[in-house]
Amino acid sequence: MLHSTLSDANLRLEKALRYVTISNDAIERLKYPKASLCVSIPVRMDDGSLRVFQGYRVRYDDTRGPTKGGVRFHPNVSLDEVQSLAFWMTFKCAALNLPFGGAKGGITINPKDFSKFELERLSRGYVDAIANFIGPDVDIPAPDVYTNPMIMGWMMDQYSIIRRKITPAVVTGKPISMGGSLGRETATAMGAFFVIHTLMEKLGRTSTDLTVAIQGFGNAGGVLAELLAKANYRVVAVSDSQGGIYAKTGLDIPSIRQYKESSRGIKAVYCEGTVCNIVEHRVITNAELLELDVDILIPAALENQITEENAPRIKAPYIFEVANGPVTSAADEILEQRGIQVFPDILVNAGGVTVSYFEWVQNRSGYYWSLNEVNSRLQERIVEETNRIWDLSQDLGISMRTAAYVHALNRLEDAVQAKGTRDYYMS
Ligand code: NAD
Repeated sequence: MLHSTLSDANLRLEKALRYVTISNDAIERLKYPKASLCVSIPVRMDDGSLRVFQGYRVRYDDTRGPTKGGVRFHPNVSLDEVQSLAFWMTFKCAALNLPFGGAKGGITINPKDFSKFELERLSRGYVDAIANFIGPDVDIPAPDVYTNPMIMGWMMDQYSIIRRKITPAVVTGKPISMGGSLGRETATAMGAFFVIHTLMEKLGRTSTDLTVAIQGFGNAGGVLAELLAKANYRVVAVSDSQGGIYAKTGLDIPSIRQYKESSRGIKAVYCEGTVCNIVEHRVITNAELLELDVDILIPAALENQITEENAPRIKAPYIFEVANGPVTSAADEILEQRGIQVFPDILVNAGGVTVSYFEWVQNRSGYYWSLNEVNSRLQERIVEETNRIWDLSQDLGISMRTAAYVHALNRLEDAVQAKGTRDYYMS
């Protein structure tokens, strides 16, 4: 149906289409991005030279509301990738019943090659180039890979300069002092925690019986490890890009996070100092972590980590996708045949975009919520949608991933129907 890098997402969509009665109008609309913008961004570098970088913003579908999605700074960013991620966001927002369509943006750079001054000029230049394409009622960017609250703050500031009015609702994931929401930084992990806890209860499992391995110890994986450990799950393995550690009796997560914050690798830190010798442990590779004999496996780093190559060796009966796209569609088939349940990214990591929505609501009303309010509204929404997707999967006898797509498609179809379809006009 769509273009090349969308092939995995498309396979999943095609599978879901078997379980919904959806009008041709909706299918036609979802085939193509609504609008794709490619821009050249001239940036004065610190050495005085001028360089021009390629940037993109894609608004995939706005049937359900203004479009929403992150901005990625990465060498692999291309129009194709941005279109695919925008398509994905369309489904994520619909699955969570957020009043948004899907979008995504990016700039093809390696941010590690840039000074802070250059990054600021680049971020502001990007907004200059896309200012007529975004807006609080049109399209609202957010952070993604290698973009952070400070970059979002520069983007909001630049948009406000262009429009000559302070416009905090144009971007989410901002610093708190510039209209950011409390709880946004921990939202993805918090959302994932609520999904895991809700589903484990349904499966009749209690936290104290469950061992967990987490790949990736950043904003999402690190915070989630701490939440799970606090709730008495036994987190036995964690890793970062350098490798991981495993301890059968469970790891001391708060200490590991403390070490990580002083910017040292997990592998190095755990066994220096006092914490280390308390438990027996061993250093493992990322590949070993994925194949550990644990109850819950959480890929929280990168896409394409569980493929048809290693899927036959995965032992965990439950996989929760905190990263976007960590399990390929070929691996999905193998895992399903082996009775391993995969809980999909568009549900598990949707806490981030949900609190982005809360940030947008707070910006528009000018009234800011307490951390408790943010977290309890997040819990309410994510648990409700988890329950609905679970019920769909049980009723139709389908995987949680297909159920999440079916759930999102039903909502997209409702919105398309509300604008009138062939049946309405021709009857
Ligand atoms: P991050 O940059 O804070 O952390 C990434 C972590 O992964 C780091 O610990 C890094 O060392 C580790 N890592 C990198 N390469 C690795 C490798 N080869 N093997 C193992 N670990 C590796 O990023 P994040 O915000 O935590 O995002 C992680 C994933 O979650 C991404 O797929 C992202 O798209 C997804 N996600 C994040 C959010 C969010 O709000 N942070 C929201 C939705 C989805």
